[in-house]
Amino acid sequence: MKSTALTTLLIIIIVAALARLLWYYGSRPEPGEPVAHLMPAACAACGKTYRDTIGAQPAKCRFCETKAVWRAVQCRDCGTVFPLIRDPSQLDPGELGRCTKCGSRRTGEVSPDAIPKP
Ligand SMILES: [Zn+2]
Ligand SMILES: [Zn+2]
Repeated sequence: MKSTALTTLLIIIIVAALARLLWYYGSRPEPGEPVAHLMPAACAACGKTYRDTIGAQPAKCRFCETKAVWRAVQCRDCGTVFPLIRDPSQLDPGELGRCTKCGSRRTGEVSPDAIPKP
């Protein structure tokens, strides 16, 4: 009887380990896909800014459902929060990372109070 209990225990441990392994591999992003992070996001279509978990960009907008959401950056000169569009087909290379309002290149991380709380 004792060896049966031990075998059962071993099977449970093996199944649990396998399930965990499958879960681990199943939850990993596809090769080449960036890992999703919580980040300040801005929609290039409707202009909304919010915090969201974003992997591949552009992501789908929570509000207008357009695939136009990019990581948001904030202008150090005028305080505008805007999407950092990195698609060359949508933007002049010279415009990359420039403030959409004043054209400044002094941009950086979005301050936490610049994005509406969910
Ligand atoms: Zn939108
Ligand atoms: Zn600006």
